[in-house]
Amino acid sequence: MDFLVLKDSVYSSPAFVLDETEITRQLEILAELRSQCGCKVLYSIKSLPFSAVMQMANPFVDGFSVSSLFEARLADEILAGQGSIHLTTPGIRPDELNELSSLCSHISFNSLTQYNQHSEAAQAQASIGLRVNPKLSFLPDDRFNPCRQHSKLGIDIEELSKSICLDQIEGLHVHNVFSATDFTPLIKTVDKFQQLLGVGLAELEWLNLGGGYLFGQIEDHRPFVDLVKKLKHDYGLEVYIEPGKAVVGRAGYLVATVLDIFVSDGETVAILDTSVNHNPEVFEYQRQPELHEHDPEGQCTAILAGCTCLAGDVFGKYRFTEPLQVGDKVVFKHVGAYTLIKANRFNGYNLPDIYLSNPLRVKKMKHYDYQSFRLQWLAD
Ligand SMILES: *Cc1c(COP(=O)(O)O)cnc(C)c1O
Repeated sequence: MDFLVLKDSVYSSPAFVLDETEITRQLEILAELRSQCGCKVLYSIKSLPFSAVMQMANPFVDGFSVSSLFEARLADEILAGQGSIHLTTPGIRPDELNELSSLCSHISFNSLTQYNQHSEAAQAQASIGLRVNPKLSFLPDDRFNPCRQHSKLGIDIEELSKSICLDQIEGLHVHNVFSATDFTPLIKTVDKFQQLLGVGLAELEWLNLGGGYLFGQIEDHRPFVDLVKKLKHDYGLEVYIEPGKAVVGRAGYLVATVLDIFVSDGETVAILDTSVNHNPEVFEYQRQPELHEHDPEGQCTAILAGCTCLAGDVFGKYRFTEPLQVGDKVVFKHVGAYTLIKANRFNGYNLPDIYLSNPLRVKKMKHYDYQSFRLQWLAD
């Protein structure tokens, strides 16, 4: 991405810019993987359910993975019947089950109680599976560890091996990592499946290995390719992956403008025309997002802060080669996933416009205005 172009006045500010070249590059990596081992690839739309991204992904993937009825409807609208839709969620509602089963090709129930309650009604239309908790933790932070103590995500693999005959269902689903950059967790997880479920795996039709792997940042794909080939060969399984962040994470930029600069207790504070509400995980997890202008050797420092009334609406302290000035633009990098989907209009500050950019052109894809805010908050 050309950062000078990002700061061009063609973009309104704040702007959420998606680099089409980068998205395509990531999709090509996944498509290559697909052709090497025959796995099926779904884009997990929850990371960024933007129609333009889904349309770009469509030719490269076998479908989408979704977490709810609204996501399933959107996936269905984009796919228009030409692809798989996989659902897993702890929150299946009885009143939505019928529509979910007609929209989704595959449903993985999150618990044995949900399976017992709903599988009979759902199996007429969808292929039924179960989400498994393999009881293998790879994440130090329990806030995103699906295998934490008292986990709400999936059926304990030991309980599953004792209580269900695998010929009653068609598939299993597992998702137990986040932002993994090697395949060790996957290999250990599949190992455990083989130890506890053994030849029963051959009774299944499919295995969904979930998301969480940043394929584009992993050099050697051979361990994955070998694993999938072996699963297909030994058990006759169709193997799915459902990456989200791997597709869009590095393709997203948030461009913001400095509105004000002052000194507070001896530190320079720069107020931006964006806030942590456009990237809520900054606040939720107290993470500092990468900034293009940050120079570790820079002599000038500034605390970049959001424009809302919350005292903790702060991105962090950064270093710059030149002092920041009012009107300067700054660019947060690698903010494609789990940012805009969680964004809100707290304090009445607008959401950023969304752009698609490639070296030949910039296209504004979505503009929010007062009407969008008004529609959300005016009673019917
Ligand atoms: C969130 C999630 C994904 C996508 O995860 P990424 O980290 O974005 O790749 C896939 N499957 C399930 C079940 C998920 O919860």
